[in-house]
Amino acid sequence: MTHLKQPISFEFFPPKTEAGKEKLKGVGERLAAVDPHFFSVTYGAGGSTQQGTLETLQTLRATGIDTAPHLSCIGATRDELRELLKSYKENNIKRLVALRGDLPSGMGMGGELRYANELVEFIREEFGQDFTLEVAAYPETHPQAPSFEADLQNFVRKCQAGADSAITQYFFNADAYFYFMDRVRAAGVDIPVIPGIMPITNYTKLARFSDACGAEIPRYIRKQLEAFGDDTASIQAFGEDVIARLCQQLLDGGAPGIHFYTLNQAEASLNILNKLR
Ligand code: FAD
Repeated sequence: MTHLKQPISFEFFPPKTEAGKEKLKGVGERLAAVDPHFFSVTYGAGGSTQQGTLETLQTLRATGIDTAPHLSCIGATRDELRELLKSYKENNIKRLVALRGDLPSGMGMGGELRYANELVEFIREEFGQDFTLEVAAYPETHPQAPSFEADLQNFVRKCQAGADSAITQYFFNADAYFYFMDRVRAAGVDIPVIPGIMPITNYTKLARFSDACGAEIPRYIRKQLEAFGDDTASIQAFGEDVIARLCQQLLDGGAPGIHFYTLNQAEASLNILNKLR
């Protein structure tokens, strides 16, 4: 098994079924074997609850790998966030992925903190350096941002509020990341920005999700995946090849690590890692 010199991390979501919970243990153990820097567990995405995030976190922690919950501020009061953060501190959680999050459409903004920079400020004010804070970055621009420049300034603000490191939304075009990084560095931000990598295993789901989160699927990838239809073996082989090339390009170009959106599967991420130098 490949061990990269750059740190890797793996993201999970809280499984909804008993079978999914059972499977998670094995997936966590397989991914723990490549000695990742940390695991992270989403919160709120797809309707997951705080309890679900915490349970998933406990399961993954049993592998011995440092595990970070995602925390979103949208729709929450300061008191609720304070209580949750206290309980994380009591549970010896040292790392958080701090986000604004999204409310279901039509529910407006809600909550007392409007943006992730305010959440980062709040955590630093109330908990000092108790947590290592990861934030989200968007090399292809957040879908609600009015422009690349505005989004970049908002990212810079979030870093200046006290983020330690960032993880990007997934993308398939390495130049988008390199351009973003040049601009981030020129703006005086020097924290690591880890590319978030989405293995390709299912075209329909990928297309739907990419539209929603603003990730562009290049035409040559789209065309190939469309042509494979239900041939999952070909989708997987092509997907692993394309994503391994992307990872290699990113690492060779100076990316400080890789964060895999595992979708609670070990196979694709491990196969991609095995293809890397
Ligand atoms: P922000 O940084 O607050 O940005 C949101 C938008 O507001 C952007 O358009 C930005 O340009 C703008 N903005 C930011 N600050 C300001 C400001 N001060 N004034 C005006 N405009 C501003 N979602 C979940 O629900 N659960 C998860 O677990 C989850 N995990 C994620 C993990 C990663 C690594 C990534 C990249 C995304 C994740 N998401 C998750 C999705 C994320 O919640 C959405 O993309 C959300 O819309 C934005 O969250 P953010 O923290 O990036 O927001």
